[in-house]
Amino acid sequence: MIIEDRSRSLLELLINISREVATALDLRTVLQRLLYAALQHVGGERGSIVVMDDLGKPVDATIVYGTKFQDHTTQQLRDTVEHGLAGWVVQHGKAALVADTSQDDRWLRRADDSSEKSGAKSAICVPLMARDRLVGVLTLVHSIPNTFNEEHLELMQTIADQASVAVLNARLYTESQRTARVMSALAEGAAAINTSLEMPDVWRRVLNQTMQALQVETVALALIDPASNDLVFHAAAGYNSGNIIGRHIPHNQGFAGLVMNEGRGLVLPSVRQDARYSEVDKFGGIEMRDIAIAPIQSQGKVIGVIEAINPISGSFDPDALVVMTGLGSLAGTTIQNAEFLGRMQKAHQRYRELFEDSVDPILITDWEGRVLEANRQAVALSGFDNDQLHAMSIDQLHEVNWNHTGLNFETLKQDDVCNYESSLLRQDGGTTPIAVHAHRVEFEETDSIQWILRDITERKELDAMRDDMIAMIYHDIRSPLGNIVSSLEMMSVLMPNDQTLVSMLNIARSSTARIQRLVNSLLDINRLEAGQEIVDQKAVEPLALVREAVRDVEPIANGRQQKLEIKLTTVLPFIWVDADMIHRVIVNLLENSIKYTPVEGCIEIGGVTDGVFVKFWVRDNGPGIPAANKERIFDKFTRLRGSKNRPGGLGLGLAFCRLAVLGHGGDIWVESELEKGSTFWFTLPVAQKKVDGRLGVTDKLVWPKDN
Ligand code: ADP
Repeated sequence: MIIEDRSRSLLELLINISREVATALDLRTVLQRLLYAALQHVGGERGSIVVMDDLGKPVDATIVYGTKFQDHTTQQLRDTVEHGLAGWVVQHGKAALVADTSQDDRWLRRADDSSEKSGAKSAICVPLMARDRLVGVLTLVHSIPNTFNEEHLELMQTIADQASVAVLNARLYTESQRTARVMSALAEGAAAINTSLEMPDVWRRVLNQTMQALQVETVALALIDPASNDLVFHAAAGYNSGNIIGRHIPHNQGFAGLVMNEGRGLVLPSVRQDARYSEVDKFGGIEMRDIAIAPIQSQGKVIGVIEAINPISGSFDPDALVVMTGLGSLAGTTIQNAEFLGRMQKAHQRYRELFEDSVDPILITDWEGRVLEANRQAVALSGFDNDQLHAMSIDQLHEVNWNHTGLNFETLKQDDVCNYESSLLRQDGGTTPIAVHAHRVEFEETDSIQWILRDITERKELDAMRDDMIAMIYHDIRSPLGNIVSSLEMMSVLMPNDQTLVSMLNIARSSTARIQRLVNSLLDINRLEAGQEIVDQKAVEPLALVREAVRDVEPIANGRQQKLEIKLTTVLPFIWVDADMIHRVIVNLLENSIKYTPVEGCIEIGGVTDGVFVKFWVRDNGPGIPAANKERIFDKFTRLRGSKNRPGGLGLGLAFCRLAVLGHGGDIWVESELEKGSTFWFTLPVAQKKVDGRLGVTDKLVWPKDN
């Protein structure tokens, strides 16, 4: 009968417990109800339930002292399940009865266990097993040793067995709720943060989302300044947030620096008690309690941090860091995108400015040639206004050179650039000479053609002036000069005995010869540059040419007490040249050597042959030519900077020499050592007997450059 009664009351108890714990889904409620029931039916003053996840890590706990719930830290929970009685139960997977805690090593002794305080106690601890999984441990403590016995233990175990499935379910439910909360916070975050790509907007949205998801008093966002590597707070929201904006946290300092360095978030409860807490972590007017900091990451790199300060509820939820880290990476991607967009917009703006401010008229057309855009200069030069231009096609504006662009602009389509000269057809009916530069571009995201139409009126006028000048030189200087030369010749024949007159005539003759050479060289430069061939070639004896040139310049060399020598050891074959032109080449080189070599210097001229070319040299022991200028000096109007009293000249002599020598199929170059002297080399073709028996050179004979 007694047994029946006991069984019935036990059954009732179990039904009650089942009902109570099974009707709740929230883990905390389930734990509290279970703990109360256990204390009520088994006895004891205090008790605890620690719930663990599948990896054995404590996830939640309820501790009751009398009728009061106690707060606990994660560290306390960890200690409980790793050491002490609960730890023993977790490890062995079976219940434990401790009749006297002062006599049992399994009991983790804490401060209040000392004999002056609560002293020895009695305790029971049972595992909560659900579907063969350990989901937690339930501990009851009685302040009087030897209170609990085997019967209590058995009853506890029965209660635990009855309740453990409910605990597991509540844990799973809480976990799924938490996951759902994190997911929805992130989903909402993603939706909100992405709605704008304007930077301050993005920052504001990131902060709003963090504030909403974490329910904190203040939030702040800092980005790494690429120049200093400092963290700079760009935005903040909430309580006293005005004090945060603009704050710099030096590289690697404070908790924010730690997060930035490690790329992992931190939750710091009661941060002021943390030994690492320092000045850099403080913000004016904010009393820091709990803070959470997460990195803002983009493409695997930390670009900043989000900081959440003082949760309104008092402490952060366990999932706060997950949510913040998720928001941090969302923010990272969006901030990076906003930055890209900003840069793109700037580049676009810059292109627009360049387009509008260009000194050249620019038109953008589609592939049918219809004008899509025209800049200010295009409007100014053509005389058409923007609307008129937009209604026109490129071939109505200028004569398109279809040979260059290809019919339907095929050449341009192949990404080739087209350059040609044409005429712009202006609104007033007139034309303007233009240089056209057309190529394919991406304009406002459409594949288009860009036409730069450079006004070349000035250049054309200069060309015309140059042509006029050449004509003038030819007719108005060259012919009278010829008359002077022949008159001087005749005078020297008529007055052979008067020595003074003869020497004056000689000066006049050599001076006019120099003017003649200069005029002829100017004409030659123009002709050769225009690609005209040298027609007046004959077989000429090189030594005679050299002697004649030396004779012409000898008086100047003598005047400078210079030694001028012809160094010829071998007999040279005849060369196939325009004798007058090559005479001027040699005179030019000799005159340069005389001019640039100081008084009493040495100048020599010589030549060798390989049977195909004769290679001449003009050597001096003058100042030499810097290596960097060895090519440049052959360009027109190039004169090297030197001392103030350098000899005068136009910078045209060597340009003429190169055009003349290349025109003959030869080559010209200089070898030089500073302060030691220069050697100018040039090659000219040997006159060959051709198949038809006549003299000349075989077609297209060119001095091999490698030699
Ligand atoms: P110009 O003598 O009228 O200045 P050139 O075309 O003949 O023009 O020569 C170009 C430049 O090359 C000269 O100004 C001079 O600086 C340099 N140059 C030419 N020949 C010599 C040389 N033999 N020694 C040193 N410098 C020379």
